[in-house]
Amino acid sequence: MSDRMRRAPDLSVIRDEVRAVSAYAVPDSTGLTKLDAMENPFSLPAEVARELGERLAQVPLNRYPPSDPRVFRERLAKAIGLPEGMALLLGNGSDELIHLMIQACAKPGAAVLSPWPSFEMYGLSSRFDGCRFVGVPLAADFSLERDTLLAAIAAHRPAIVFISWPNNPTGNLFDRDTVQAVLDAAPGLVVLDEAYLPFAQDTWLPQLSMRPNLLVLRTFSKMGLAGIRLGYLCGDPAWIGEFNKVRPPYNVNVLTLAAAGFMLDRTALLEEQAALLRAERDRLLMRLRSVDGVTAFDSAANFILFRVAGGSVAADRVFAALKGHGILIKNRAHVHPLLAGCLRVTVGTPSENDAFINALNASL
Ligand SMILES: *Cc1c(COP(=O)(O)O)cnc(C)c1O
Repeated sequence: MSDRMRRAPDLSVIRDEVRAVSAYAVPDSTGLTKLDAMENPFSLPAEVARELGERLAQVPLNRYPPSDPRVFRERLAKAIGLPEGMALLLGNGSDELIHLMIQACAKPGAAVLSPWPSFEMYGLSSRFDGCRFVGVPLAADFSLERDTLLAAIAAHRPAIVFISWPNNPTGNLFDRDTVQAVLDAAPGLVVLDEAYLPFAQDTWLPQLSMRPNLLVLRTFSKMGLAGIRLGYLCGDPAWIGEFNKVRPPYNVNVLTLAAAGFMLDRTALLEEQAALLRAERDRLLMRLRSVDGVTAFDSAANFILFRVAGGSVAADRVFAALKGHGILIKNRAHVHPLLAGCLRVTVGTPSENDAFINALNASL
């Protein structure tokens, strides 16, 4: 059959939930200062990079990864102070672990719930795994509406509640007592997503010993290793054992394990970078607040959400103008009514942040 005769493929076998959405869009950042994805802007010192190269050169690429990298897990558990008796599950980024948890809990009619707006993957993974996703609106100041949230938990009986700590894209830490109330009320799992731990320095990990329905999710991404794709889930071995069955056997590749193992001996370096970024975040927040027509929100993460006067039309214009000045940030103005007029900027190096502020002043 010639190409001309070939009919378009019939996609009707693809599930409606899949066909209804567009693929997660990662914009082309070629030639732009990249302040859109919460990456750590610092690369490794040359000497450390060279040593890492030597280490990676010794990795046997012809062999499958260990299906259970026990030695690495034990080192990681020690490094993070995992409470006695708790277990760890490694994932290809925490994105994969979010998916695995939902997949394991996706009984017919099961619900997944999260305060909303929050991390997009909670909603996407729920839909792809056939779960009902319930996003419970935040208050206008992005805090939790305690009564609304508890009523939604009572009404929907979610298998999993995801709480981003601090919340992406708003940047705030929620009220701790309200989260405790969620842990009391939830009929299933409560996952505290601590992707921004190096910047929030606030954790639920010690609570694991007291709370059988709590899991803590973390990642190497935001601390400076987004490219290696490594996340980990902490919790009771009974939960971890179930999710481990759903995990693809070789989900964490040998180069990732070697690079992460190498960096576990150099956490001081990453901690130094995080400290610098926390200081830069606070400086950037002050500078943003001095810009006319900008409302910048407090952040416990390595990004800042801010609102421009003039609503989402103005936000689109500012976003495009910044891009024209060579600066890529994230436009969040259209993802939820609570985020009308909002843009999100990742904290970069001091000079990147200065360039951003200058470009913003020129874009308003
Ligand atoms: C960035 C982010 C993650 C990270 O996911 P990885 O797959 O580990 O890179 C997880 N949760 C939240 C809330 C995030 O913002």
